[in-house]
Amino acid sequence: MANGSVRVRFCPSPTGNPHVGLVRTALFNWAFARHTGGTFVFRIEDTDAARDSEESYEQLLDSLRWLGFTWDEGPEVGGPHAPYRQSQRMETYTEIARKLQDAGHAYSCYCTASELEERRDAARAAGRPSGYDGKCREVTPEQKAQYEAEGREPIVRFRMPDETITFTDLVRGELTFTPENVPDYGIVRANGAPLYTLVNPVDDALMEITHVLRGEDLLSSTPRQIALYKALIDLGVAKEIPSFGHLPYVMGEGNKKLSKRDPQSSLNLYRERGFLPEGLLNYLSLLGWSLSADKDIFTIEEMVAAFDVADVNPNPARFDLKKAEAINADHIRMLSVTDFTERCAPWLKAPFAPWAPEDFDEAKWQAVAPHAQTRLKVLSEITDNVDFLFLPEPVEDEASWSKAMKEGSDALLRTAKEKLESAEWTSAESLKEAVLAAGEAHGLKLGKAQAPVRVAVTGRTVGLPLFESLEILGKEKTLARIDAALAKLAA
Ligand code: GLU
Ligand code: ZN
Repeated sequence: MANGSVRVRFCPSPTGNPHVGLVRTALFNWAFARHTGGTFVFRIEDTDAARDSEESYEQLLDSLRWLGFTWDEGPEVGGPHAPYRQSQRMETYTEIARKLQDAGHAYSCYCTASELEERRDAARAAGRPSGYDGKCREVTPEQKAQYEAEGREPIVRFRMPDETITFTDLVRGELTFTPENVPDYGIVRANGAPLYTLVNPVDDALMEITHVLRGEDLLSSTPRQIALYKALIDLGVAKEIPSFGHLPYVMGEGNKKLSKRDPQSSLNLYRERGFLPEGLLNYLSLLGWSLSADKDIFTIEEMVAAFDVADVNPNPARFDLKKAEAINADHIRMLSVTDFTERCAPWLKAPFAPWAPEDFDEAKWQAVAPHAQTRLKVLSEITDNVDFLFLPEPVEDEASWSKAMKEGSDALLRTAKEKLESAEWTSAESLKEAVLAAGEAHGLKLGKAQAPVRVAVTGRTVGLPLFESLEILGKEKTLARIDAALAKLAA
């Protein structure tokens, strides 16, 4: 597959925060377009005025930009099939619905909700298929007049051909749907509003989409869309039925489908926690695909070079936050130090940073950054790791304090202070020797000896390499903090 004619689309509805499943769909479409030298179309499916919002629309654009996706056609960039917001294309849909009806591919259905329900229940009770029964396929002019006199307002229903539909899913292979399982379906509401069932394939046809890659949850709409496509070809609106590939479900905790409402699925959460876009994309690419059995960590360029829909695994993929963080940690380590320090910038300021802006010290930050870079899983962890440098006093963490401060810690701290006072403050190594010597004086190994020092100086039992931290903080502050800890122990 290497020609310039591939056209894929990403067509979310702007209803709430983008979720990771949606991002995975965008990623696979985008990677496929880039791999094949094709076109990535971004379309907004905002035909549901009750659920769509301008805020969600802005968020979608912002999210795609943050992730680094560029679209070849779509909002703001335009293109030959503009506009790319369905809310601005209503006349097109109305006209096509009318043409479908004129050609007999669709018809007015006058059934009321309660009539439909009654017949559905009866069909179920009789063990027959319970979908729409085709009652309004043939409505006589007299019946029509009667319905209208009753004030009934029809919906437009698409007439499914009475034939089996078979297609080869790019991920799942050959799939077959029999007519009793795919009944006639609504395409325009009684109030004239076109439905997703119509507008989605109509736009795919008009925008000349060649490959539809989307979540498995949409698989049941595919036979209907194929039938509609055939009708559109008949009308001269569509040229060719696209290929379909349905991406596997993403499972969350307890092996349940990850839902939009699941907090774990919110893209914003990952942004706020300081995932790198490249780390998150690397992880999401593994939900149904892999570069090779022994390589989990790769760049987006490597993914693009290797990506083929045919390699997508149809089995459900499991979302694993721990693995996502581990992969992100690797991407953090892959950054240049300069890039790393720049990306941390938002977390070194309000509202994330607990220190006063004037207490931030750029030189200390530059000195400590390389030590932090090797330890973070997500960028937001940077604040806790470096706050000891910029807060006037270390944070008070009672759990750390009681864990590190044992019987005899005061004596150890006094010796450590003496040794540090006379140490050469020119390298972390000499500070380590000082603490090592203090420990020896009290029969303690380095690990045990450095714990109270660490808590006295940084407030925490875990953190960046201790001796580098002391060196960067400086002699005066280090000794003052040991004094303060001694005073606290004495109290
Ligand atoms: N707007 C639809 C959705 O967000 C798109 C479905 C499709 O990709 O066909 O579910
Ligand atoms: Zn009907």
